[in-house]
Amino acid sequence: MADLGIPRNTIEVLQRHRFTTRKKYGQNFLIDTNVLDKIVRAAEITKEDCVLEIGPGIGTMTQYLAEQAGKVTAVEIDRDLIPILEETLAPYGNVTLINQDILKMDVKKYVEEWGEGRPVKVVANLPYYITTPIIMGLFESHVPLKSITVMVQKEVAGRMQAGPGTKDYGALSLAVQYYAKPEIVANVPPNCFLPRPAVGSAVIRLTGYETPPVQAADEEKMFALIRAAFNQRRKTLANSLGNAAGLGVGKENAERALERMGLPSSIRGEALTLEQYAGLSNLLF
Ligand code: SAM
Repeated sequence: MADLGIPRNTIEVLQRHRFTTRKKYGQNFLIDTNVLDKIVRAAEITKEDCVLEIGPGIGTMTQYLAEQAGKVTAVEIDRDLIPILEETLAPYGNVTLINQDILKMDVKKYVEEWGEGRPVKVVANLPYYITTPIIMGLFESHVPLKSITVMVQKEVAGRMQAGPGTKDYGALSLAVQYYAKPEIVANVPPNCFLPRPAVGSAVIRLTGYETPPVQAADEEKMFALIRAAFNQRRKTLANSLGNAAGLGVGKENAERALERMGLPSSIRGEALTLEQYAGLSNLLF
């Protein structure tokens, strides 16, 4: 099968099937063999691995994954890509194709059955309009995962990896870092895609923790606290928490808890580490 990482092969397949890419599905197909190699290498795929690919497009990365992995499941929302995928993936006996919206799929149940109890590796060139719901969905629904290696918007990769006190630090950084160790493995310019996206991209690897790095008595409450803390970035943390309807904390309680932690009452949400959020959550709830 022709390597779809070579631009002229992708163009040939698209033209022959009269397929035009759809912006609403975030379709920017990879046309750079070096980048494809880099993603697959970063994911450290072996024949022991079950790989879940989200959004295979015309099957470019799927081919690379199928060569290295034990088996691959690729979930694609766009029905019009299915006949193309059936053609480009025909030589690979270890690929299962599912025509579904990943956000509507019970990924945990599927992975548990298909992976036969073993954790899977997720590898994808993600549709950028739903990067956060896809990644948070995988973590929060506790899909058994070894790692997630994905192409995302460069700015989003920066937010996932950011630490306290930086402008990129926020609820996404803390959520990702609670579940996994993030490492940016490559920056990828727009000319590696067809069509070219308007933004720069990066490949990030998130290696899942077996046990979280901090102890939160109530995970959900800690994340509600974190979201409230970053909802009003310019306010002090105590004010943000006091203003958050539904959190049930109150400004005075927040100030008292901060004092017990040896933190000033004027501190802002962006200054606290994940460990401090876990501590604060354990004190408040
Ligand atoms: N993997 C291909 C590549 O690298 O060339 C395509 C990547 S493209 C950035 C994103 C893919 O995700 C598209 O094929 C798009 O149709 C698919 N997609 C978009 N939304 C989806 C969803 N909710 N569920 C599953 N696939 C989706």
